[in-house]
Amino acid sequence: MKLILRSSFTVLIALGTLCAQWAQAASPSPDQLQQVVDAAYARFKDVTDGKNADYIPILATVPSDMFGVVIATKDGKIYSAGELDYVFSIQSVSKPFTASLIMHEQGAKTLREKIGVEPTGLPFNSKLALELYPERSVNPLVNAGAIAAVSLVEASSEEERWRKVLGNISDYAGRPLNVLEEVYNSEYESAWSNRGIANLLYNYGRLYSDPEEALRVYTKQCSIGINTVDLAMMGATLANSGVNPKTGKRLLDAEDVPELLAIMATAGFYDESGEWMYSAGLPAKTGVGGGIVAVVPGKFAIATFSPPLNEAGNSVRGMKAIRYIAGELGVGLYGPNHEE
Ligand code: GLN
Repeated sequence: MKLILRSSFTVLIALGTLCAQWAQAASPSPDQLQQVVDAAYARFKDVTDGKNADYIPILATVPSDMFGVVIATKDGKIYSAGELDYVFSIQSVSKPFTASLIMHEQGAKTLREKIGVEPTGLPFNSKLALELYPERSVNPLVNAGAIAAVSLVEASSEEERWRKVLGNISDYAGRPLNVLEEVYNSEYESAWSNRGIANLLYNYGRLYSDPEEALRVYTKQCSIGINTVDLAMMGATLANSGVNPKTGKRLLDAEDVPELLAIMATAGFYDESGEWMYSAGLPAKTGVGGGIVAVVPGKFAIATFSPPLNEAGNSVRGMKAIRYIAGELGVGLYGPNHEE
């Protein structure tokens, strides 16, 4: 009898500990959020691994030592450390947000059928993926799928197409954004690889506008200037089921948010997406400008800015900081991830 009582008691204590851990993971306090942001900044600020992107010449000139870390909660509270004001180009972090525009205007089914949702396991600018997969564009987070996505936006002119893309990304940030003209010129002048992709897609009937128009609008989209707080707010909108916490504007139906996050989870880091989910357990998107945004669904977003990239084109310090924060708060989707 005593033994039964003692073991029930042990089970109760274990359950209590688990519940306490879960509650902590479920809703970290404001102090915890600020502390973990400060700790991530301090821990990784001196890391110098990686190299700025230079295939877009102007990106090589962005100061490599800048580092910002921000958490934005689903109710719009900001916890931050480091560089918050520097305006950098959004690059591929823009891709899920234009995918969201397609889902919102034309339905998730259209995105799935006209672009695709399969991870490529290949670099972001792969032409091989385009030949290998019958969908051609494969998914909206690689260049092919993202160029196809802007071509799919309903518009009767290039100007309207661009205004809709810019307006949607501004709405996600909660303030009007602009193109960094120098970045746009540098990228458009050197966009031979993306031009090849746009033309191949057109050839296969998987591009839905004139190829050069799609290329221009896509390149402008990648050249939109944002800061680390904007990026966190964009992620917080997804954490808040598609409603911008600052403006209250709905940008995606709540029922479509899981599908978009699923694409980010499987393809947000290109050929490093498996590594990322294994070590961080969060849907996220990176860009060669040095930004990353990760989403803890229903709770908050973590955004980082640090220009030096690894071989796959993902920000080295940003990845370390987000993994650290996810690990400390125990918010990985499948339970706390232990391996860095
Ligand atoms: N604009 C960049 C390109 O098309 C985006 C790539 C990226 O951020 N991974 O190459």
